[in-house]
This record gives sequence, C-alpha cells and structure tokens, in this order.
Amino acid sequence: HAKAVGGGVFATYRPRMRDGLVERLELESDLRAALENGELRLHYQPTVDLETSQVVGFEALIRWPHPTRGMINPLDFIPIAEATGLIVPLGRWVLHEACRQAVEWSAASGGRPLKMSVNVSVRQFDRADLAETVAAVLAETGMPADRLCLEMTESVLMTDTEANLEQLVRLKALGLTLAIDDFGTGYSSLAYLRRFPVDTLKIDRSFVERLGVIADDTALTDTIVRLGRSLGMATVAEGIEEFGQLAALREMGCGFAQGYYFSRPVPADEAGLLFLEGAHTPA
Ligand code: C2E
Ligand code: MG
Ligand code: MG
Ligand code: MG
Repeated sequence: HAKAVGGGVFATYRPRMRDGLVERLELESDLRAALENGELRLHYQPTVDLETSQVVGFEALIRWPHPTRGMINPLDFIPIAEATGLIVPLGRWVLHEACRQAVEWSAASGGRPLKMSVNVSVRQFDRADLAETVAAVLAETGMPADRLCLEMTESVLMTDTEANLEQLVRLKALGLTLAIDDFGTGYSSLAYLRRFPVDTLKIDRSFVERLGVIADDTALTDTIVRLGRSLGMATVAEGIEEFGQLAALREMGCGFAQGYYFSRPVPADEAGLLFLEGAHTPA
C-alpha cells in the first residue's frame, strides 16, 4: 500500500515514516467507517467481589474486528482515535452500548444490580459537555446512574487540576461513581486524591503481577489498599492471574478484583451468561 500516495522522495529518504503515515491514515478512515457501520464491539471483563466471590459487574473494553487486519488491540487504535478526535463519538458509542447492555442483563436477571465500568480518555474528559453527554446516555438507556462507573487514569486527573476538579464534581452530581485506573503508575498527589470526589482505586496490574515475588511491590500494593480504605475508597486489583495473588489481595483486604484468573474479557453473549448463571468464580 506504500505506493498508493505521493512520489518517490519519501520512499527514498523516509520510507518508514511514510509507511507509518499511510498506515495511520488508512486506520483512521477504516475506524471512522467501522464506527459508522456498527462494526466495533465491546468485550466485558467481570469484576469479582472478593468477599462473596460473586461477579458484581463488568468493565467494557472495546474491540475492533478489522476485515483484513484481524482483531486490532485498543492500545493500537485508541491513540489514533484520540489524535483525530474520533474518540469523542467513539466514546459516546461505548458508553451507550455498555449502559444498554447492563440494563438488559440486569432486567434478564430479575433486577440484580450490575455495575458497569467504562474507560474515559483525556480527550473526552477535557470536553465541557462530558457530563451532559453522560446524562443523555443514562436517560436514553434507562441506566441507573449509581450503576455506572467511569474510569480515568491519573494522567487525566493530574494536569490542570482545578478544571478537573470542577469536571469531576459535575460528573459526580449525576450520581455515578468514579475510578482511577492503573493507579500507582502515574503521579497522583495525595492532596488532590483527597480533594477529588473519586470512589475507587484500581491497582495497576504491574503491582499485582509481582505480588509475593518482589517485596517492594507487595508492600506498595498493601499501602494502596490501606490508602483506599483510609480515604473511604473501594479498591479493585487489576490483572489477577494466579491464586496466590488473589489470596494475598484478600489478606490485604482488597475489595474487588479482575483478571484472567477469573475470566478474560469475553464477548457480550458469554458475559451475559456469566452474570445470569449466578457467576460462580474459581475463587
Ligand atoms: P485498562 O482499562 O487498564 O484495561 C485493562 C486491560 O488489561 C485490558 O486490555 C484487559 O484485557 C487487560 N487484562 C485484564 N486482566 C488481565 C490479566 O489478568 N492479565 C493481563 N496480562 N492483562 C489483563 P485491553 O482490553 O487490551 O485494553 C487496553 C487498554 O485500552 C485499557 O486498559 C484502556 O486503557 C484502553 N481501552 C479499552 N477499551 C477502551 C474504551 O472503550 N475507551 C477508552 N478510552 N479506552 C479503552
Ligand atoms: Mg480500565
Ligand atoms: Mg487499568
Ligand atoms: Mg491498564
């Protein structure tokens, strides 16, 4: 496809750069089309309550089954969506689809509450109309606000903190919950953490990965769980793959967990079954 655009100059001097650009443009227009044609999918990874071992909710994770490139990883196209602004309509679609699905599953279970988490990128967060958009989606789908959780990374929160605080307050006013994703990898200031109306800390997978292996990581994880508790926040451990990690987190008093040990992110039909079948986990 490198021949499709431009002359030979770039091909001679900067072939790799041109390839990258062409690839990016192709991906961008494909992504736009995929969104318009309803080709994007959500997979769902269960969140398990470590006290009851029950599935209490899911995190929605976007998937792009590309007609020629196969399944594209979100880390390979979310940055493109962010750079082009496409993340805004795409993010709205994710929010709507995840809420619609949560309402459907909850109804099918006879009204068992189901918590749905949705990732929000910085480009969405920076928009003045984010709270309005979320309110509209809640109204459209009939999703109770307190069952929706928005996940944001520390980097989203720690720049321009005054404006962020206002934005968080607007979102919280809708009645939803807010989580800090990948907690521990960024630069959270403890002072801001206290001021921000955040409900949940999601402990980054990199800590969980080395639990029991590297003493410092074990100590840090324990500290994050305690920090959450003393600030009145829930803690969710990401990326549990082994029983030993689960046991250690339970011992520390971590409230919730996600990870391949319980389930990979799965397509909607499988996730629905997981929830409806009473969701027995191997914990
Ligand atoms: P994240 O929000 O931190 O999501 C967790 C990622 O870790 C997911 O990767 C999940 O599949 C993976 N994971 C979960 N359990 C395990 C485990 O036990 N072991 C390992 N090795 N990995 C595990 P995924 O689905 O590829 O998503 C990557 C990132 O892309 C997400 O990280 C999130 O930042 C972003 N993303 C995904 N969907 C969306 C979306 O709808 N909107 C936005 N803005 N970002 C999204
Ligand atoms: Mg997340
Ligand atoms: Mg995460
Ligand atoms: Mg992550």
